[in-house]
Amino acid sequence: MSTTDIEKREFQAEVSEILDIVIHSLYTDKEIFIRELISNASDALEKMRLKQLAEGDVFEADRPLEINISTDEEAKTLTISDHGIGMTRTELNENLGTIAHSGTKAFLQAMKESGGAGADVIGQFGVGFYSSFMVAESVEVYTHSWQPDGEHVKWASDGGGSYTVEEADGQHRGCRIVVHLKEDQAEFAKPDRVKDIIERYSNFVGFPVNLNGERVNAVEAVWLKSKSEVDEEEYKAFYQFVSHSMDAPRYTMHFSADAPLSINALLFVPGENMERFGMGPQPAGVALYCRKVLIDQNPEGLLPEWLRFVKGVIDSEDLPLNISRESMQDTALVRKLNTLLTKRFVKFLAKQGKDSPEDYLEFFKRFGRFLKEGIVASPEHSEALSGLLRFESTMSEGEALTSLDEYVDRMKEGQEEIYYLVGDTKAALEKGPFVEAFQARGLEVALFTEQVDDYVLQSLREFKGKKMVCADRADIDMDDVPTEGESLSEEDTKALVEWMSKTLTDKVEGVAAGKRLVSHPVVALIPQDAPNAQLRAMMEAMGQTAPEMKARLEINPRHDLVKQLHQLKAGNEELAEAVACQLADNALLAAGLGTSEADAAANMNSLLGKILGELDKK
Ligand code: ADP
Ligand code: MG
Repeated sequence: MSTTDIEKREFQAEVSEILDIVIHSLYTDKEIFIRELISNASDALEKMRLKQLAEGDVFEADRPLEINISTDEEAKTLTISDHGIGMTRTELNENLGTIAHSGTKAFLQAMKESGGAGADVIGQFGVGFYSSFMVAESVEVYTHSWQPDGEHVKWASDGGGSYTVEEADGQHRGCRIVVHLKEDQAEFAKPDRVKDIIERYSNFVGFPVNLNGERVNAVEAVWLKSKSEVDEEEYKAFYQFVSHSMDAPRYTMHFSADAPLSINALLFVPGENMERFGMGPQPAGVALYCRKVLIDQNPEGLLPEWLRFVKGVIDSEDLPLNISRESMQDTALVRKLNTLLTKRFVKFLAKQGKDSPEDYLEFFKRFGRFLKEGIVASPEHSEALSGLLRFESTMSEGEALTSLDEYVDRMKEGQEEIYYLVGDTKAALEKGPFVEAFQARGLEVALFTEQVDDYVLQSLREFKGKKMVCADRADIDMDDVPTEGESLSEEDTKALVEWMSKTLTDKVEGVAAGKRLVSHPVVALIPQDAPNAQLRAMMEAMGQTAPEMKARLEINPRHDLVKQLHQLKAGNEELAEAVACQLADNALLAAGLGTSEADAAANMNSLLGKILGELDKK
């Protein structure tokens, strides 16, 4: 063949970036490149198995579904072959020259954050193939697609900016990947070293893995064993296998059930939440098996989407073996499995929260987001999920977190509602105008500080029969409490309220005197069922118009400012109006409503002008 038949191409820029990191800044865990290549071979075999069920015409239909690895110490090569689906010329360019998904950016981000130290995470970002360049001088991929009219092709690169693709006669179906090792990486051509690595990382691959003709992996269905037969190490090894990671599982849940469905499940919560690194939503991480036979690696619908952080395996004998991936999603059986497994898993988390609260908090910090997503997305699980929430509260010390169960335990006799607020920080919420009325009455306010919380709590509505009520609402019934300080007389208060209602009619729904307030002069309260500030902002961001809404103003007749306002109104009504407007603006701002900060500043300036004008007159 002449060299003119060799097609030379540049890597897509993102691939070059990844290769640059892989070659120049990953120093540890280099051996995982073997895991990644085996995992790709296994994926290709799995796809082949499904193709064979679906397609009549397949290239070399009789090739066994197995992975063969060979080492050559002299030539310093490691070769990994599979008879999976292989690749056409086009697919070679698409799969080994470009990256279509969001993995690149997330990977680069994670590398930056970890100082580029470890290669262990590379497989989690969908760029595992390139890890071979950590150890390779050059890599060759010989392949023939499962499609009978496919070409015999060879892909090759030294990991620089480009690669070549050319015809290469005589290929079998699948891929044969030859890794030409760098001088100082020759250890990966030693059979013993390679055997160790396969046993460590690829023991659970669902197809035979042979090294120089000898079977290495165990293909054990750990999940079918009974709990007493599996030790910590084996769980960890299996977790690392299913999650492509090197850390230990945060939680391991292994259970079997016979009724109402026959299930064996082995589920893991990973050490870290990968979506925190800017990874887009992960695909479902729990594979579905039927009597040890893999039905679907990433079945959508087996678990709710918000449980996508869970890794592991579910095996159900009740599934028909010939079930197709397409029809699986909407079978009643899968829906039943979904409900049952989700319930079990949420219950499992609740138990962890009770048994070892400290560990649970570490879990919650990383994965709480998913539980909140679940509250909104799965009403049937929301009550149980809300018990898993952790948050600060006016009755928890410092930054300590508490739960709704604990809140309910602390509720005062006769208290029927759970009060909460959402804001930036605990400190800001406690300084705001809403908390003091509750504190004065010994009522606890749960304090939530994540942006999503508003939305989540609005959709929650109830916990253990107690209504969830946002503490900025107008119609909360409050007992009288003895108040300190001299108040405006009842008559004066009434006059002031009437005057303010008139003056502020454009800004607020109405004005009333109340017993809520202690240290604030006024507070703006929101009608019970109106969407609050955050929710309104969200609706507007989504292009919806939030319903017209005005807050009610409650004034504190014991507050000096209010008393002074009453006097001022008699002497200089124009100035009193300006002050009343400013008080209302301040309260609306504190409630996240009404005036923009710019408007408020402008009003403030005009008020100052009026005051200085008055001083001049004197
Ligand atoms: P991922 O496996 O997460 O998709 P990789 O970088 O490991 O990412 O592999 C990139 C792609 O190359 C795979 O998605 C697959 O399409 C293709 N590929 C890699 N190895 C093989 C193989 N042995 N057989 C067929 N296709 C392969
Ligand atoms: Mg891969």
